[in-house]
Amino acid sequence: MDFALSPEQQDLIALARDFARKEIAPEVAAYDREERFPIEIIRKAAGLGLMGGVVPTEYGGAGLDHKTYALVVEEVSRVCHIVGVAMTLASGLVGNSVFAFGTEEQKRRYLAPLARGEAFGAAGVTEARSGTDVSDMDTVCRKDGSDYVLTGAKMWISFLDVAEWFLTFAHLGVDERTGRKRICAFVVDRDLPGVSVHPLQNKFGFRPLKTGELVLEDVRVPADALVGEEGRGFAVAMNAVENGRLGVATRAVGLAQASVDAAVEYSKDRVVFQQPIARFQMVQKMLADAIVGTEAARLLVLRLADLKDRGERARSYASMAKMYASDVAMQAAIAAFQIHGAYGVSDEYPVGRYLRDAKVFQIVEGNNELHRALIAEGSTGIR
Ligand SMILES: Cc1cc2nc3c(=O)[nH]c(=O)nc-3n(C[C@H](O)[C@H](O)[C@H](O)COP(=O)(O)OP(=O)(O)OC[C@H]3O[C@@H](n4cnc5c(N)ncnc54)[C@H](O)[C@@H]3O)c2cc1C
Repeated sequence: MDFALSPEQQDLIALARDFARKEIAPEVAAYDREERFPIEIIRKAAGLGLMGGVVPTEYGGAGLDHKTYALVVEEVSRVCHIVGVAMTLASGLVGNSVFAFGTEEQKRRYLAPLARGEAFGAAGVTEARSGTDVSDMDTVCRKDGSDYVLTGAKMWISFLDVAEWFLTFAHLGVDERTGRKRICAFVVDRDLPGVSVHPLQNKFGFRPLKTGELVLEDVRVPADALVGEEGRGFAVAMNAVENGRLGVATRAVGLAQASVDAAVEYSKDRVVFQQPIARFQMVQKMLADAIVGTEAARLLVLRLADLKDRGERARSYASMAKMYASDVAMQAAIAAFQIHGAYGVSDEYPVGRYLRDAKVFQIVEGNNELHRALIAEGSTGIR
């Protein structure tokens, strides 16, 4: 694997770093506290071309390779991974599903504005009952002429306040031959009759995102809202998991690095027993473990990105990167919080936010227990 970065890659990463420090850092604590999505910051990021990720330029994207994309998202996530998640929408599940399975018209209408950062889409996958077992969804669709009518509800859906459309899934009943639900993927416009959203308030973490319930009450969509083939919607969701997990993993590395940065700075400044606490060996152990963990997680992310750039299958590496990076983010956040002592509890310092968000990273995009199982199954072949 080649770790050398070209001058163009270095310039883009420096641009992202500079943007994050100047535009995001002064605002992030306030919008996290107020549970406010920083739309004005996203617009500025779009103006710099930071939203287009790996989407080809012909569809409004930046046409980046996966390695550059990951490093750019990490730089921004080091200051705020919520801006980071907005940057991954076009390249992850939402945009990549339309890119890989959508018609030309769907790519122009939905993907291109998303990649340019002009409009938002969201992923409506999870349901209240079935949770991680996505294919066991209850949301149904029926055919009426050439239209489909969707009925059901999705839970824990993000971007409810700004999404103009949802990539979502419903089933046409159970296939008698396979015993599996015949899942269909759709793009559903937010303003259609029967679509309503119900955001949760005062979330533990990821607070600037409006996350909650997406209700579909007899929502009628035309046949051209179908993404991919009828009954093959699960393949649409699964196709994008590697890109989705790359995005989550690189944001988690950014968060882990933020914890390391905060812990290092504080341990140099804080003096007790007439010495900086950085001199205590047990503090050094916390720092060293967080630093090494973060670097190792970054290398796993780059390995995943490199496989994607070579066009190779990377399902197991996607699980490894997502699981390890989010576990490291948690470990680094705990260390940073401990090193801040009582001051970690105050919202004068960001480490409380890091800790809350790191916990959520271990749950989203497949909980880490699921990823451990997938990694082991990938090696043993035993399910
Ligand atoms: C802030 C936030 C934002 C989100 N945004 C979105 C979004 O935009 N779109 C969307 O569709 N979803 C979203 N989600 C949903 C998220 O992806 C799900 O929460 C996640 O997939 C887990 O589902 P669940 O919470 O129902 O957990 P459950 O499936 O009920 O699992 C509970 C626990 O059981 C264990 N477990 C479950 N399955 C296994 C297994 N196979 N092996 C071992 N242990 C297992 C794990 O410990 C797991 O944590 C979001 C969630 C949060 C918290």
